Amino acid sequence: MNSNSHRRDNCRLCQSKNLKLVLPLKPSALADSYIPADKLSVEQPRYSLDTYLCLDCGHVQILEVVDPRIMFSHYLYVTSVSLGLLEHFRQYAEEVVGALRPAAGSLAMDIGSNEGALLKNFKSHGLRVLGVDAAQNIAALANAAGIETIADFFNADLARDIKKTHGAASIVTANNVFAHSDVLADMADGIRELLSDDGVFVFEVVYLLDLVQQLTFDTIYHEHLSHHSVKPFQSFFRKHGLELFHVERNRSKGGSIRGFVQLANGPRPVSSSVGELLALEASVGLDKPKIFQDLFARLENLKNDLLNLLRDLKAQGRTIVGYGASASVTTLVHHFEIAEFFDFIVDDDPRRQGLYSPGFHIPVLSKTALAEKKPDYIVVLAWQYAAPIMRNNQGYAEQGGRFIVPLPGLKVI
Ligand SMILES: [Zn+2]
Repeated sequence: MNSNSHRRDNCRLCQSKNLKLVLPLKPSALADSYIPADKLSVEQPRYSLDTYLCLDCGHVQILEVVDPRIMFSHYLYVTSVSLGLLEHFRQYAEEVVGALRPAAGSLAMDIGSNEGALLKNFKSHGLRVLGVDAAQNIAALANAAGIETIADFFNADLARDIKKTHGAASIVTANNVFAHSDVLADMADGIRELLSDDGVFVFEVVYLLDLVQQLTFDTIYHEHLSHHSVKPFQSFFRKHGLELFHVERNRSKGGSIRGFVQLANGPRPVSSSVGELLALEASVGLDKPKIFQDLFARLENLKNDLLNLLRDLKAQGRTIVGYGASASVTTLVHHFEIAEFFDFIVDDDPRRQGLYSPGFHIPVLSKTALAEKKPDYIVVLAWQYAAPIMRNNQGYAEQGGRFIVPLPGLKVI
């Protein structure tokens, strides 16, 4: 607990206090707080990453809520940096417009719209567009590019204002926003206010089942308050006068679901996809503690194997560096307690180079440091990208360097 955070004591979706700690992850500094040299003396507090299961609705969540103004008001991330994401949004708009066939000139609104990558595509389909994004600097970029964007957090009050000034929305989208907000109930009420009678809310979130099955526990960090699945969503939307009528799985961000929601008793039939995913979740016990306790035990084994390997290598005088300076890496380094082994971390993003890692202040350098310092081992901290990282660093391997991939099973290559 810290003055910049508060700890809630009930479920973010159903308000139940019947919560069970299922993943006791190590406390961590804020995942994206890579800092410049002149900030090294400023203390970076660690916040709890304990992850709880709601025994009533099945929602999985962290309870420590860091003030979003600290995390998001100058968010580093701008969508256009990633070409893959741009193509994702182009397809997304095409699929949503194709499926929902909104009338020309109707309003499409995006919550957490970033610099407007999705809205640009809706606009080219002939829709009016409006973005809402809390990051002032990014909202300014979007407005300058001709995508009207309100720099604020979305809630029911703002939704009422928008409805007055812009009218009801045929499409409201929110991508990876439902993982970030502590006030989902207020958000859902705002969406209900804003939707036209046949309007649809489309959202995409990382899917809890993929997180569990692919061991991507390192996507648990303070920005991601919730780890969503279909069962808790169904009762949540119902409670807020909405209806989840269709869900699709996709490969975005290592495994996501895209949900389609209408007003309660809306015009669309509920597709079989909802029942199918509910059945799948029930079959693996995604709303029960055991699947998470098993995941935690597996992570403990992987952590111990990695620690033993790194200690042995250090004892032999080997030099070790990390690869990848992302938010996920912060959780991995804190929970696996491996920071002390790294001389530095390499990252390909020039905006990360020259900074220091959250909490442990490991220097982040460019690839040229590998050629200069010739470390014996690289631990691929961004392990989900192990294949492209190793491909792009063949020269290092040809000179005798070796890669350690920590997950999903420890490998030395
Ligand atoms: Zn709940």
